[in-house]
Amino acid sequence: MSTTHALLAKLGASLLVLGLIGCSSPAGQAVAPTEVPAAPKAAAHWTYEGEEGPEHWGNLDPAYLLCVDGTAQTPIDITAKSTNDVADPVFGYSAGAADFVNNGHTVQAVPAAGNTLTVGETVYTLKQLHFHTPSEHAIDGVKAAAEMHFVHQSEAGVLAVVGVMIVAGDAPNTAWEPYVAGTSTPKGGAASATIDWPALLPAEHITYQYEGSLTTPPCSEGVQWMVMRDAVTLSQTQIDALAAAYEGNARPLQPIGDRDVVLDTQTK
Ligand SMILES: [Zn+2]
Repeated sequence: MSTTHALLAKLGASLLVLGLIGCSSPAGQAVAPTEVPAAPKAAAHWTYEGEEGPEHWGNLDPAYLLCVDGTAQTPIDITAKSTNDVADPVFGYSAGAADFVNNGHTVQAVPAAGNTLTVGETVYTLKQLHFHTPSEHAIDGVKAAAEMHFVHQSEAGVLAVVGVMIVAGDAPNTAWEPYVAGTSTPKGGAASATIDWPALLPAEHITYQYEGSLTTPPCSEGVQWMVMRDAVTLSQTQIDALAAAYEGNARPLQPIGDRDVVLDTQTK
């Protein structure tokens, strides 16, 4: 992609991480145009179905062009994978407070600073956790009931997202309960909870790794994806609670193209 395009994509990614891109228009701020400088044009509204759905994202806003023109988009069906011992993601997570943000597409838990993900030489900081129902990725053609995305950003602005598949089991998952409860936070509402971040991950951190994109507009590429091989179990009641907040907030599968998906075989 062109340099300008890359910069725009990166800016979009940063804004998205910070939760600045959304559908909410700043209502109630009627100010005479001559009194203040014009605010930046708000990003175009988008949805998961209908005329502003995924097939149309690329046409809704010039900033969303990668949603239709991109060649390394997410999600994908993870099938053609090579096995290799690549850099393990090392989680420097600890329990702490998080604030909930309902952005009209999902509900984010935004932690206090200090949770890190290190891959090779690169240190990323955990920015937010959010969910999709059903899962966005498929593994060998199979989608899960839900998928959790732990979104990280490096100091240089590179995004790394860890995906965790959610499947239904008999018992409620107590580690996940504070997040599940927080997803009832209404749009514009405020809530916070203590989240035991390391307890949210599967026991083994074996990941499928590939380079992809944001799964929401502006669909910025250059995102380092790590999808956990092992799913985490929530009770059906907990999964229903996620779906009660947002259901169908999953982008359709995208072409894998000539990308490699590597299964990191090293266990720890
Ligand atoms: Zn996501």
